[in-house]
Amino acid sequence: MSAEVRYRMLVEQIPAVTYIAEFSADAPFIYVSPQIEDLLGFPVERWTEDDDLWAERIHPDDREHVLAAERRTFEQAVPYEGEFRMLAADGHVVWIWERDTIIRGTDGRPVCTQGVLMDVTELKRTQSALEESESLLREERDRAQGYLDIAATMIVVLGADGAIGLVNRRACEVLGRSEAELLGKDWFAVAVPESVREHSRQSFEAAVGGRTEEIQESESTVLAASGEERLIRWHNTLLRADDGTVTGSLGSGEDITERRLAEQRVAFLAYHDPLTGLPNRAQLSESVHGSIEVAREANRSVGLLCLDLDDFKLVNDSLGHPVGDELLVSIARRLESLKRHGDLLARTGGDEFFLLLPDLPGEAMKHAVATAERVAAALAEPVEVEGAEFHVSASLGLSVFPLLASGGEELLRQADTAMYQAKAAGRSGHMVYTPEEQHPLDRLSLTARLRRSIERNELELHYQPIFSLDTGRPVAVEALLRWNDPARGLVPPAAFIPAAEHSGLIDPIGEWVIDELCRQAAAWRELGLTPRLSVNAAPRELRRPEYVDSLRSALERHGIEPARVVVELTESAAMDEATARGPLERLHDLGVGVAIDDFGEGFSSLSRLREMPVEQIKIDRSFMRDVPRSPSASAVVTAIVKLAQALGREVVAEGVETEQQRAFLAAQGCPMAQGYHLARPLSADDATALLLRS
Ligand code: C2E
Ligand code: MG
Ligand code: MG
Repeated sequence: MSAEVRYRMLVEQIPAVTYIAEFSADAPFIYVSPQIEDLLGFPVERWTEDDDLWAERIHPDDREHVLAAERRTFEQAVPYEGEFRMLAADGHVVWIWERDTIIRGTDGRPVCTQGVLMDVTELKRTQSALEESESLLREERDRAQGYLDIAATMIVVLGADGAIGLVNRRACEVLGRSEAELLGKDWFAVAVPESVREHSRQSFEAAVGGRTEEIQESESTVLAASGEERLIRWHNTLLRADDGTVTGSLGSGEDITERRLAEQRVAFLAYHDPLTGLPNRAQLSESVHGSIEVAREANRSVGLLCLDLDDFKLVNDSLGHPVGDELLVSIARRLESLKRHGDLLARTGGDEFFLLLPDLPGEAMKHAVATAERVAAALAEPVEVEGAEFHVSASLGLSVFPLLASGGEELLRQADTAMYQAKAAGRSGHMVYTPEEQHPLDRLSLTARLRRSIERNELELHYQPIFSLDTGRPVAVEALLRWNDPARGLVPPAAFIPAAEHSGLIDPIGEWVIDELCRQAAAWRELGLTPRLSVNAAPRELRRPEYVDSLRSALERHGIEPARVVVELTESAAMDEATARGPLERLHDLGVGVAIDDFGEGFSSLSRLREMPVEQIKIDRSFMRDVPRSPSASAVVTAIVKLAQALGREVVAEGVETEQQRAFLAAQGCPMAQGYHLARPLSADDATALLLRS
């Protein structure tokens, strides 16, 4: 085999076209390797015979610069390298990479060019896909960072080694450090108080190493640059690579320092009187019941003393509340000094105190009366307030378990009644309770009256329209429950829903609400009105599988399509996995929508919102209050609107009370709103009129 043949075989096997061309812009190829037929569809002969084919097949957009470069090669004898497009015989575009070399004669003058053409179409495609996805990624990242920064929660990403990979603005704020001070640093060293640092690090390492279960919810303190410690509630997620190995963790955290303090304060206030710091009625009632249980076991007695100052109102009215308050505090201190070990002194009303004697020995009544006398004597001494002396007197009543009362409620009521009897009998003395003297105060409890409200048709639904901000028209109505209590008039739900939930009465009430709403919707349909229908459900209602069943049967009974109905549940209920998962799925199976009511006031984190199978978010009206006056409140509302939309959820702003708020929401692209400015909750008739008008 000749050297040339061998050379040709070699050249014709490489996955590229090789060529030799005369050193002239107009001359055709001298030689082109046969791969060109695969590449561009024309046989080799066409390229060597047709002078114009080459220039013709260059993509029109690239032709000019490729030909110019070729001319330069010939005129200035510089080799060419570049990428351009050519059109194959069937018209498809092929990206070519070309490089040539100039071959010179013995005299040094160029005689021909020799070059390679390679198909780089595939390479180009991946390259541009890569660029595209990179720019998408960049956009995505920017957008995500934007969300992260407006988020009210702290967001912190740690690597598996505990190094900080990402912090958002809120996290920097809470820690009092800049992003630069935090990125790359060991989280535990910079942000965790020393007292818990090692413990924290160990549990992080255990979770990352898969040795313990992932801790999704946690509370921990972080250390700010100022040395201050803040309490954070975290929602954590482990981050994993495609192969499942843990690469770090993402935590979203809420600074609950103030809230916790407020909660502690609320908890304290729930059981204490803020003025004197004494236990209040709730605490008294618990202690009465508790001590009766103990006394029953131990065969002992419990005494209860009720005292009410005489003419205290006069002090308040003539000398003012500050003096009245001081007087009460002084009396509280004096009564406290009479307390024996284990006794409980409570202030249960303006000038009403109780003294619980939880463990009276035999001859209980005698002991109780003796205590009452000591109290009366102590109060006979004048009290000094702001340099002035006051003479106070009190009416006292008392009762004893088990001698007179058989249980806690009875004991409380008897002591109270005895005190009123003492007052009626001429004040300033104590009176022992005796059953014969019982005042026939048959006050029905709230629950008992509520129970009757259903049978007596005292419940009614009002309807508050929800408006499209686009068209200004009502698109939905929210059913709001009212109780027309003969004793009190129209009672708002806040005054009885909690009791109804507590007593279980919410179940029949809820069923009434659903049926009444569907009945009204059917009546509206007769008038050609088909607004969407929102209905509230308490967490307790949702937990019963029967809730969805009664909703289904009411919808069927009245011929209402499920898709028109939205069930509103509060954020905390929606986020409470145990409550929500099953019921939400059942609601979805039925085909009704689900809304998170009062969104923003609870603990939901962004990541959980994404997982929640809900269609609608109703922004809590507490956020609206300061909109648009307060930039931060406005930013939060805007963020929720954008976030909801980014997640494909409907969003309704609640509590729109001014035109400025409406305009602000419309400008932010919030699609729907509800509030007194747009329409108050209306009776069924008024709602019908409004719907007909629009
Ligand atoms: P919600 O579901 O958030 O209902 C909105 C409440 O905000 C209504 O109070 C409404 O009158 C009030 N509201 C509407 N616009 C404005 C405004 O511009 N400014 C202000 N300040 N308030 C506005 P309502 O009727 O007293 O109801 C209170 C809550 O009672 C409801 O809050 C809901 O959670 C509950 N509720 C009402 N009806 C039912 C029911 O049938 N079942 C259950 N389980 N709960 C109900
Ligand atoms: Mg609602
Ligand atoms: Mg609401």
